[in-house]
Amino acid sequence: MTKQSGIGRRGFLVAGGLGAAAAGYGAYRWNANDVPSSEAKGHVVIVGGGTAGLAVASRLRRALKNAQITLIEPERTHYYQPGFTLVAAGVFAAGDVVRPEAEFVPAGVRWLEDMVVGAEPERKRVVTAKSGAVSYDFLVLCPGLEMDFGAIEGVERARLGEGNVHCIYDYAGSQRCWTAIQKLSETGGRAIFTDTWTKLKCGGAPKKINLIAEDYCRRQGSRQKVDFRYYSALDHLFDVPVFNQRMIAIYAQRGIPVEWNHRLMRVDAGARKAVFRPNGSEAEVTVEYDFLHFVPPMRAPEFVRQSGLSAGADWVPTDKETLLHKSFREVVVLGDVAALPTSKTGAAVRMQAPVAAANLVALMEGKEPQRRYDGYTACPVVTEYGKVLLAEFGYDKKPTPTIPFLDPGVEHAVGWELKVHVLKPMYFEGVLRGKA
Ligand SMILES: Cc1cc2nc3c(=O)[nH]c(=O)nc-3n(C[C@H](O)[C@H](O)[C@H](O)COP(=O)(O)OP(=O)(O)OC[C@H]3O[C@@H](n4cnc5c(N)ncnc54)[C@H](O)[C@@H]3O)c2cc1C
Repeated sequence: MTKQSGIGRRGFLVAGGLGAAAAGYGAYRWNANDVPSSEAKGHVVIVGGGTAGLAVASRLRRALKNAQITLIEPERTHYYQPGFTLVAAGVFAAGDVVRPEAEFVPAGVRWLEDMVVGAEPERKRVVTAKSGAVSYDFLVLCPGLEMDFGAIEGVERARLGEGNVHCIYDYAGSQRCWTAIQKLSETGGRAIFTDTWTKLKCGGAPKKINLIAEDYCRRQGSRQKVDFRYYSALDHLFDVPVFNQRMIAIYAQRGIPVEWNHRLMRVDAGARKAVFRPNGSEAEVTVEYDFLHFVPPMRAPEFVRQSGLSAGADWVPTDKETLLHKSFREVVVLGDVAALPTSKTGAAVRMQAPVAAANLVALMEGKEPQRRYDGYTACPVVTEYGKVLLAEFGYDKKPTPTIPFLDPGVEHAVGWELKVHVLKPMYFEGVLRGKA
């Protein structure tokens, strides 16, 4: 499978047109410069310069003429995480999904290359590793989430993919996973895929890589040599009934058995054994494997959990419509860190960013926040090379398809074209610059 195999120029043009149509469909979906200009003053601190932090920083910089804006982000490299799946599928090159952070920090925003290690919301300040305390009048909290690799005994993030244990939630891990899928197809063996019991970013990703690996082997003529199995920590494959039904049907059609309610507890890579605990049971189930793809449990970063910001919970209590912190009115929260009853995706962040920015500006002006987020999120579930189940939905867990003439309940080539050709440039040039 070569880079972007099978995608011709015609496909690209079709996708480009549809992408433009998709982005323009429905006024509430188009997010460009919809934060009104304001003369409000004050110091806004944004913690986290990932998808959410950059999308909000651009909008606030354009809207606020007189305010000081500081972005605290330790990383000099920005990763397009939704592309990790396609790196692990051999469709994107590793270099396609990384860009320097500096390209996206808006002019006029002060970038503090530092890490927040503590928060004192009662005193309106955060504490950084190198620069000490930073006080704010208003805080935009969006440091993403922490992947707790240590919770699975026997795995080490730095060594992912060096042996038989893989995880595409890591940049290096996604590259090594592609090498391993090709090897699996040559050697055959027992391939098991798992997910996790916590909320996770892009809940579709563990299924995407499973279905891609299976399709790859099928296309290579080696499918009969590989015993694929999926162990879910949950009792469903997707949190929305219509997409869940379709995913279950796809797994059945592709001959991949699913075990429900199995939590991965530890791995013995040398002995090629994965140990699960069925939910609600003390018993352990040991499964032998040759290739393992797993997902660590996830939660808010430590400085958030250790402070009043999370009120002792794993995620930050956030008003699901206004995106205001439930206890601290000068704090807006968005992205993966927020306790919102919807899926944690970049697509969700794209819709949250203008709401968070507009409501923050309203607060700065002493007004009541008016903008509302409806829970929109999207997960393009890659089901095979050339097809995607474009799962879009909101808080009510009903499909909210952007492309009106396609059945949202089944997979389409159009979704693949969007995923491979449209969404990445739209992310870098639109979402991160607060233009889409
Ligand atoms: C494998 C994979 C596949 C995915 N597929 C899709 C997909 O198909 N579609 C989709 O829409 N989404 C997908 N996502 C999810 C998407 O990438 C995230 O939901 C999105 O990036 C969340 O944005 P965020 O800003 O909340 O977090 P992030 O983008 O992760 O940014 C958080 C930022 O905060 C910084 N930070 C962390 N701690 C601190 C600290 N203490 N101090 C200062 N800064 C800090 C980090 O360095 C980081 O830059 C996928 C993710 C993965 C990993």
